[in-house]
Amino acid sequence: MTSRVMRDFDLLLPESVAEVVDLLTRHKNNAAILAGGTDLLIALKFDYAVDNVISLALVPGLAELTFDPEKGLVIGARVTIADILKSPEVRENYPALWQAAKVFATPQLRNTATVLGNVLRASPAGDCSLALLALGGSVLLKNSRGEREVDIDNFWISYGVTARQDDELAMAFKIPPPAAGQKSAFRRMTRTTEDLSKISAAVSLQMGGGTCQTARVAMGCVGPTLVRLPGVEKILEGAEISPEVLQEIVAATAAEINPIDDKRSSAEYRLKVAGVLVKRVIGQALDNGGNN
Ligand SMILES: Cc1cc2nc3c(=O)[nH]c(=O)nc-3n(C[C@H](O)[C@H](O)[C@H](O)COP(=O)(O)OP(=O)(O)OC[C@H]3O[C@@H](n4cnc5c(N)ncnc54)[C@H](O)[C@@H]3O)c2cc1C
Repeated sequence: MTSRVMRDFDLLLPESVAEVVDLLTRHKNNAAILAGGTDLLIALKFDYAVDNVISLALVPGLAELTFDPEKGLVIGARVTIADILKSPEVRENYPALWQAAKVFATPQLRNTATVLGNVLRASPAGDCSLALLALGGSVLLKNSRGEREVDIDNFWISYGVTARQDDELAMAFKIPPPAAGQKSAFRRMTRTTEDLSKISAAVSLQMGGGTCQTARVAMGCVGPTLVRLPGVEKILEGAEISPEVLQEIVAATAAEINPIDDKRSSAEYRLKVAGVLVKRVIGQALDNGGNN
């Protein structure tokens, strides 16, 4: 049975990463990390039952968003969607992420919700998560035994389930530096402007002399997790992106996805529009480096 009444829990307010890790070690699967709370507090009103909620609000060192042309971008666990939008470095170097942040929910939500929370929620409708999948990178996890990095390609296991262990804190998301000629873009469709995506696509293309050298193409809301489209990437790599290549991609996309009917859309609609959405997001990336 579900209830809209918030369940009772202990709100824990650690003041250091070491304290967070210690609490996670102690409480394991009877604890949840609270970042912005825009997903967690809703889940706690339904069937997500934990007795301990560990807030990151007082933990220093997690709110940093740092860009280094040699090392890339590091997004700390308390970096919000609004922080992404305010960053000229993100806008310039990782347009797909900036564009995902731009259309994300409402100003109130953007000021509260974090990028890492979006990744840890493991929803196929996660907008910033989709941009990160296209851009590539890794999640930095820490527990009492040390740190490890999990490539984003291996991070989402199934709907709502990630490679994170119960005793691990996600410290940051790391994106490699942009390659020469890298262009990226994000695009989504919603029922209303402030709704979750009903279908979404993001790309990162490394272009050289009019030819696509490497491609990462990702889609949201077409399966239980966000997915890459290896067949479409193969068509792009080594090709000049002509109208004929784009038409081939439109046809190839539907074969790579497995959408379902849900309250936001139908499988039939998603299958019909997916290829066109991928074609358009590629065009968006190429038009202006995706920087709009
Ligand atoms: C009205 C509304 C509109 C929304 N619109 C959008 C939208 O347009 N696009 C979109 O993608 N999403 C949307 N969402 C979903 C939500 O806002 C995002 O997924 C958001 O990024 C979650 O971040 P958060 O900081 O609030 O996470 P939280 O709710 O704090 O956490 C989410 C999950 O991640 C875990 N977690 C968070 N941080 C860590 C960490 N550092 N280490 C380990 N575990 C962690 C939590 O325990 C929890 O399980 C919307 C939600 C609402 C309520």
